Amino acid sequence: MHAEVIAIGDELTSGQRLDTNSRWMATELGVLGVPVTFHTTVPDTLEAGIEAFRLAAARAPIVVVTGGLGPTADDLTRDVLAAVAGVPLDLSGDALAAVEARFSKRGMPMPESNRRQAMFPRGSRIIPNPEGTAPGIDVDLPGGPGRACRVFALPGVPAEMKVMWKATVEPAVMAMLPDRATIVQRRIKCFGAGESAVEAMLPDLVRRGRDPLVGITAHEATITLRIAARGRDEAECLAKMAPTEAIIRDCLGTIAYGVEDDEIEDAVLAAVASSGKSLASVESGTAGRVASLLAQADGRRGATGGVFRGGSVMPAGLADVRTAAEDARRQWTAAVGLAVGDVRPAAEGRRAVDVAIADDAGVTVLEHVFGGGVDLAPNRAAKTAINLVRLRMLEGNAS
Ligand code: ATP
Ligand code: MG
Repeated sequence: MHAEVIAIGDELTSGQRLDTNSRWMATELGVLGVPVTFHTTVPDTLEAGIEAFRLAAARAPIVVVTGGLGPTADDLTRDVLAAVAGVPLDLSGDALAAVEARFSKRGMPMPESNRRQAMFPRGSRIIPNPEGTAPGIDVDLPGGPGRACRVFALPGVPAEMKVMWKATVEPAVMAMLPDRATIVQRRIKCFGAGESAVEAMLPDLVRRGRDPLVGITAHEATITLRIAARGRDEAECLAKMAPTEAIIRDCLGTIAYGVEDDEIEDAVLAAVASSGKSLASVESGTAGRVASLLAQADGRRGATGGVFRGGSVMPAGLADVRTAAEDARRQWTAAVGLAVGDVRPAAEGRRAVDVAIADDAGVTVLEHVFGGGVDLAPNRAAKTAINLVRLRMLEGNAS
């Protein structure tokens, strides 16, 4: 069972917007064990849409689509699907009521143009949209010889698309799979090494066709390893996953800081808290990112918050990080003080930042050199600096 992805929108074909939806949907399908054989991107025209759907439906039993479900005249996905299916568009009373309810909840009358969002190709199924006005469309198109093609059309807005995928499309695709396997996924979050370095530390793990499958993605210096196992039930999946997770943790050590939605700043505060300590910061080259990340993470801790005591932000010029880290400790009455200096250019187009960590045992000053573009530098420097606090706590606990 293979699938194709179609993305619709002038903003995609013109290059104004990067088509991240196709990438996301293809990754999700891969995890389900459904390889994606073609990606097609088309502008908002009837002709291009019709051609793309005819070709895809002839080649693949499943086609997933994003974009062109809006209320405006250039949103043509429903018209394209009706044309290729050879059926008229019917008004759905239920869908109209849902769209109207969304507007009346905000105390607004529904613009006449939004009626279009309640029009569906005859014989199709509605994919509810809990996040927006445009419902999705689940419809069968004439496929290759002797078979139909099932199309799932979702909105272009990434957040809506993802919620609808999880709630409706993923279960429908899984029900179409011949072996009806259960799939369990787990994400291991890593910080402190680049994507290729992490991959190199995991011999033979990130390989296509492996079971459990291990995928690797990077976002703002955080690396996510996704383990996906297939089995008869959840217990079998978990049992299959355990040895793979053990290998990963063994190879990566302290680089693996958390799981699922954990951010590095969550892991830092958890490490500080479990050492029975508190943290304060002062920063100059990171535009307030250190304090912002820590304050947000502290908020997420809810009742166990208060680990981050406070932080000061300077525009630039914090040269003596050693003294600053001590001062921060005192100013906020925290057990640990973190100071982050200016980010400066280093050799080979890299950047460097001085970081100091002060606690009962004294002050440690480190120069950290890192890569990546200039716009990512404050974020990367901030995360790197707070991660040093976590490593310091782990060392302290070990000794
Ligand atoms: P909808 O079906 O929700 O109305 P649409 O294509 O009609 O989708 P647009 O107004 O074109 O809606 O896009 C909504 C938002 O979603 C825009 O910010 C757009 O850039 C973004 N978007 C659309 N398609 C994609 C895509 N393939 N990848 C990432 N973002 C996308
Ligand atoms: Mg569009």
